[in-house]
Amino acid sequence: MGFDGCVILNRIEFLESNEPGIYTVGSGFQFNRLGMQCSNEGFTGLEFAGGIPGTVGGATYMNAGANGQETADVVDRVDIIKNNGRFQTLNRIDLKFGYRSSPFQFMKDLGAIVAVTFRLQPSGSAKRRLQECLERRRVSQPIGERSAGSVFQNPPNLEVAAAELIEKAGLKGFRVGGAMVSNIHANFFINSGGSTSQEMLDLIAIVKEKVDQKFGVQLKEEVLYVHPYCDDLNPNRDK
Ligand SMILES: Cc1cc2nc3c(=O)[nH]c(=O)nc-3n(C[C@H](O)[C@H](O)[C@H](O)COP(=O)(O)OP(=O)(O)OC[C@H]3O[C@@H](n4cnc5c(N)ncnc54)[C@H](O)[C@@H]3O)c2cc1C
Repeated sequence: MGFDGCVILNRIEFLESNEPGIYTVGSGFQFNRLGMQCSNEGFTGLEFAGGIPGTVGGATYMNAGANGQETADVVDRVDIIKNNGRFQTLNRIDLKFGYRSSPFQFMKDLGAIVAVTFRLQPSGSAKRRLQECLERRRVSQPIGERSAGSVFQNPPNLEVAAAELIEKAGLKGFRVGGAMVSNIHANFFINSGGSTSQEMLDLIAIVKEKVDQKFGVQLKEEVLYVHPYCDDLNPNRDK
């Protein structure tokens, strides 16, 4: 297993702000950097982005979120390019986001997200909240380890996080080859050295099965599987 396809390094990295609180950002701009910049300039809405790796395009596609905030809350419009090469601007009102879900995941003719405009509100406490988000991440996540972030979505309508279920199933530190459930955050699975993608897939399947057996909860992946040349990139999530 591995990735037999074309990987694109997105270098659309501009940032424009011609009005206070309105940021138009290239989809390759680092989401973490955007969160830091906006918060430090005194605007609220993207404090949670501090410490989230990846790009603005990826965060919008995934509707990334944390600490009660999510990308969709502050998106104003999104510029996309379609498979036929045409550009289109989509306004927030026409975009239906959900928990870690965006309409872009289901657009058959999407080429790529090119740029995103965010509308943020002024706030005297944004800078402090950014620092709190970064600190929370520092103490609760395996920073510096190789992971894809949270593997599973938190189960809907339950007052319990996926990490708690995995931990209570006794799976912290559980491993398949080099793939391992983090000892720091049970919903982060790390490559502790030499893990193959098959080992990571096996670990995910075993954790799912054990949590189901113990608690009767069917965990669903937050991560997306990428199958080259396959239309269905997201087979394990509800459409
Ligand atoms: C340590 C760690 C912590 C994390 N913490 C969080 C968290 O707190 N909250 C959270 O929600 N996520 C979190 N994540 C997950 C991840 O960082 C986000 O989902 C991220 O925003 C994805 O961005 P990316 O650029 O890496 O996208 P990728 O992972 O490369 O891609 C994700 C998907 O988006 C698509 N995509 C990416 N860019 C574009 C584009 N320009 N146009 C169209 N489609 C595109 C890809 O094709 C793919 O399907 C974390 C990950 C790690 C490793």
